[in-house]
Amino acid sequence: MSDCLFCSIVEGKIPCEKVFENENVLAFKDIYPQAKIHILFIHKNHSTDITQMDLNSIGEVFSAIKEYVDKNPKLTKGFRIVNNCGQEGAQTVFHTHFHLLAGEQLKSFGA
Ligand code: 5GP
Ligand code: ZN
Repeated sequence: MSDCLFCSIVEGKIPCEKVFENENVLAFKDIYPQAKIHILFIHKNHSTDITQMDLNSIGEVFSAIKEYVDKNPKLTKGFRIVNNCGQEGAQTVFHTHFHLLAGEQLKSFGA
């Protein structure tokens, strides 16, 4: 999709620090990391937010996350997956993405 930042990254028009790729999914480092490890997982097919994604595509992204996690020894102690959806969810890039945060002790929501 034109005028979409993450589609431009998929198309190679904007550079990224790629950490995982398969036929359907791309993962790259967040440019403003909020944890020692902060990766964005996206489906290569454009969707604006998670409400617009079909379940098969969501499954493909989560399969990729599992494959990445299983191969990465830095994630054995745990990680957090976050999806911000829409204005009140504080979404800023409108190509659905899943944040993987890890590499340090994250705060509990209740703390
Ligand atoms: P959101 O706030 O929509 O959930 O997350 C968007 C994320 O994209 C933010 O964490 C932001 O730092 C990241 N981001 C914005 N522009 C770029 C970019 O050009 N490259 C990369 N790698 N990340 C970006
Ligand atoms: Zn897009």
